[in-house]
Amino acid sequence: MKKPVFLDRDGVINTNREDYVKSPSEWIPIPGAISAMATLHRAGHQLIVVTNQSGIGRGYYSAEAVERIHLVMRNALKAAGVDSIHILFCPHHSRERCGCRKPETGLIDQARIDLGLPSGGWMVGDAHSDMELGRRSGLTTILVLSGRGRDQLEIIKAENSAMPDHVTDSLVSALDIILTP
Ligand SMILES: [Mg+2]
Ligand SMILES: [Zn+2]
Repeated sequence: MKKPVFLDRDGVINTNREDYVKSPSEWIPIPGAISAMATLHRAGHQLIVVTNQSGIGRGYYSAEAVERIHLVMRNALKAAGVDSIHILFCPHHSRERCGCRKPETGLIDQARIDLGLPSGGWMVGDAHSDMELGRRSGLTTILVLSGRGRDQLEIIKAENSAMPDHVTDSLVSALDIILTP
């Protein structure tokens, strides 16, 4: 079984918005990202999207709006040949101190239970919290410089935090890392 690939959503699959992706019309795929996911799928990697959506907990949009956004994303993926995608999101405000807001590991723990995944795999994200989640979950981490990646890399360095295992431009270039034996 190929190693699962966990992906952050905003800034990796679709463009990040400082004011949150609140509706399907604000979900704009990053060029090449959907076909990159299709390439991973065809290569036999299970894809799991793990996303913090604290905009729900902050009252900016509803969980139902997130489900509608995810339907658009699922349809885009389906059109590219990805018939199985697991999507998990944390709806909580940071002050709720839940166990699923990245870098807490709840979403990955849940995905492993849901799908019976093997240990290990990849974490692709544009944020410090994604890298920390991956590190805590025993995943090989890839920071993409799309979305917030450039700023987040500066924060990681400034804080002297653990560096990501890999840094690359985007999900498209991350393919070279994941698919290289
Ligand atoms: Mg992100
Ligand atoms: Zn949560």
